[in-house]
Amino acid sequence: MTICFKGNSCKYEIEAVMKLFLPLVTFDFLFEKTVDTGDFCIVSSEEKEDGTQLSVEVSCGDSHLKKDLLITSDDPDGAELNLCRLLYRIMQEITGITPEWGLLTGIRPVKKVNALLDEGCSKEEIFSRLKNKYELSDGKLELSYLTAVTQKKYFDSLDRRSFSLYVSVPFCPSRCSYCSFVSHSIESAGAKKLLPDYVEKLCAEIGQTAEIAADLNLKLDTIYIGGGTPTSLSAEQLEKVMNSLKKSFDISKIREYTVEAGRSDTITEEKLRVIKEYGATRISVNPQTMNDSVLKAIGRRHSAEDVINSFKLARSSGFDNINMDTIAGLPTDTYDGFKNTIDTLCGLDPESITIHTLTVKRSSSLFMQENIDIDSRISDMVRYGQKTLGEHRYLPYYLYRQKNTVDNLENVGYAKKGFESLYNIYIMEEAQTILAVGAAGSTKLVNPDTNKIERLFNYKFPYEYISRYEKMLEKKKKIYEFYSNI
Ligand code: SF4
Repeated sequence: MTICFKGNSCKYEIEAVMKLFLPLVTFDFLFEKTVDTGDFCIVSSEEKEDGTQLSVEVSCGDSHLKKDLLITSDDPDGAELNLCRLLYRIMQEITGITPEWGLLTGIRPVKKVNALLDEGCSKEEIFSRLKNKYELSDGKLELSYLTAVTQKKYFDSLDRRSFSLYVSVPFCPSRCSYCSFVSHSIESAGAKKLLPDYVEKLCAEIGQTAEIAADLNLKLDTIYIGGGTPTSLSAEQLEKVMNSLKKSFDISKIREYTVEAGRSDTITEEKLRVIKEYGATRISVNPQTMNDSVLKAIGRRHSAEDVINSFKLARSSGFDNINMDTIAGLPTDTYDGFKNTIDTLCGLDPESITIHTLTVKRSSSLFMQENIDIDSRISDMVRYGQKTLGEHRYLPYYLYRQKNTVDNLENVGYAKKGFESLYNIYIMEEAQTILAVGAAGSTKLVNPDTNKIERLFNYKFPYEYISRYEKMLEKKKKIYEFYSNI
């Protein structure tokens, strides 16, 4: 399809709206040119004496529709959003599709609700304003509102000089087919060779980051050791990393300490002992699915029973705050299969359960596969999860969306009251600085006065991280610059 822009260049926004309705179509773009054959969309704006005349015209198969609107210079939505809304309504009529998230294509829908709550708006006002502006469905409005309300108290308790520390361990036992992270199979000869040097540099970076934090009088609030699968490290390596954290920071004052144990094929009694002994308060045991055939299809080398055993082992090792991750829409999974996953996890009764929706990114092996077997009832799976978790007293507390997610659905963390993960809330709502250490770590500096954000990226691959460590450390000096006036 050709999309032609006249008098404006809202390419990114218009393409995002088109993709809601035609996810598999590729688009050509023309600027200030005319098109009248084939499938096309013309998006035009023209300044007039009494305002801006907007117009969107779509010709798609046998359908042809055009909508116009005159807006004044003080229209709060501006030309861009009004053009998107015109296109949205046309495509809704042509395709018969009503996307549940409406026009909202951004990553953080809850931010919109939070902003309105801060303005003092009532629930009714919030619903009506977001519905009119973005055409959100009642279901997604309710989900966003509930999430915002659950997380609200955690923003009130935030110290302006607090930060969270992310420790990246980008290694896994094997690569899952849907994975788009920079994660290396621990079993490859290259990764095995790199690991001792990686752990050494990681510990060094932890120490140097602690010095920066101390110089700037920043207070460590939460720690998140993620990946990859941090428990891919041996118990000894894990102990080195956690000991380095203990020596470098005062962890007695932190409010949360998570270790993503992740896959059952890496969880042992000894590693759990190390995690507990060095102060972690929360772990994740992430099955993604409790169906053996699906686990096999995505490249996992453990069974659902292994997950149950790991969970029980974690409980008997003293962990009273366990999260379990699931993914709706995994290849070969079905509605009943997903239902089984949710029911089984509810039976285990962890403190939090996260429901992701499958995202197929270019860097995953799944992207290369033809005829991927994905069930068409993913919205129903997500709805079942939401309803069932609600019945088991789990409330949504963080929510985000990603590009290329099947059916444009969302990822939601649900937790029992008091077990919401602070780190997940702060990173998703960009409410607190995150200092990251390790390969592929991304530091996010948040100015508490202006909410301005700056990002610093560590080298992506472990071999680069090790060999260019000193150079990378140089970049961290920017943290001083950022905090110079705060
Ligand atoms: S466990 Fe997670 S990080 Fe590791 S390969 Fe699978 S999806 Fe990727």
